[in-house]
Amino acid sequence: MAKSKKKSSSALVAVIIVVLVLAIAAGAYWYFFHYRKQSGQEPGGNIPPTVQKTGQLSIHFLELGNKYTGDCIFIQYGDVEVLIDGGSRESSADTIERYVDRYCTDGVLEYVIVTHADQDHIAAFAGNKTYKSLFERYECKTIIDFPRTDKQTKTYENYVAARDAEVAAGAVHYNALQCYNNEGGAQRTYSLGEGVSMNFLYNYYYDHKATDENNYSVCMYIKQGEYNYLFTGDLEEKGEEYLVQKNELPQCKLFKAGHHGSKTSSTDALLKVIKPEYVCVCCCAGSPEYTVTPENTFPTSDALARISKYTENIYVTSLAVNVDGKTWDVAPFNGNIVVQSDGEAFSVTGSNHSEKLKDTEWYLQNRA
Ligand SMILES: [Zn+2]
Repeated sequence: MAKSKKKSSSALVAVIIVVLVLAIAAGAYWYFFHYRKQSGQEPGGNIPPTVQKTGQLSIHFLELGNKYTGDCIFIQYGDVEVLIDGGSRESSADTIERYVDRYCTDGVLEYVIVTHADQDHIAAFAGNKTYKSLFERYECKTIIDFPRTDKQTKTYENYVAARDAEVAAGAVHYNALQCYNNEGGAQRTYSLGEGVSMNFLYNYYYDHKATDENNYSVCMYIKQGEYNYLFTGDLEEKGEEYLVQKNELPQCKLFKAGHHGSKTSSTDALLKVIKPEYVCVCCCAGSPEYTVTPENTFPTSDALARISKYTENIYVTSLAVNVDGKTWDVAPFNGNIVVQSDGEAFSVTGSNHSEKLKDTEWYLQNRA
């Protein structure tokens, strides 16, 4: 009798422990995946309040809410909005929407530019069963994407379906070569408002076969008075070489580092022509996503060494954090990087901090 009583009481203790463990796990899950998202503590939520002044252009390099490399750049001038790329996972659509809605109040994106068909640039536009495509979340007026691709992925299929549904709903769709050639209604230059234009460049791989998907990237620059802001997607060395040869590239106030700061982009051939004064890198600094060789993780030592010959004004969106030696998570580096200019005054603000890369602890430990 006594023995069975002892047995049932130890069973009760076991049940209590299991219930407690489950309650703690549920609480942790709720905190990390629900509360943090709602309260804006995740990357992408901690945004500096900026007021859009008349004549002020703003360019935002977004964090994507996860530990994966990808691009998303939001540009606003007056009530004209441009979104370049929608990386890096379908779930980024939630992060991007929350951010964009702080600035875009009418649910309309005047221009959507999709540079190339790699997942880390199209995922949030592709969408899936869980996450609605950005095309479903916004009315996109003009969609401009890449003339060529060799992709056959499910993500790419979803992208095409979502894009074509937006076109069926009234959007206009061109590729960058049509824009460059002013063909069929597409324009090489679009006015974004008084004194600001968006200009499509000629990339040799718009109409030639590339061995690397990255070289199909749409290339364009925004011009605001004397200031030029260059975006080349993930264009690689050979593509940059042709870009310099085939276009009259302007000196650039700002350059989005090619291919997330890869060692095969942001080459001397390009840099010596555009002489960038500010460089923003969309990546998770130090992430082992593509390589475990420390100096080749984004932003790579080689790219930084080349860029540093022109400017110390280098900023990075996100930081990879090693949790337990095996698992990686994301934290903000500069965070969402907001560049603002009226054509004269120019500022760079990070939602986490606004330090230049060379002044950060990460740089001293990993790149100096
Ligand atoms: Zn990429």
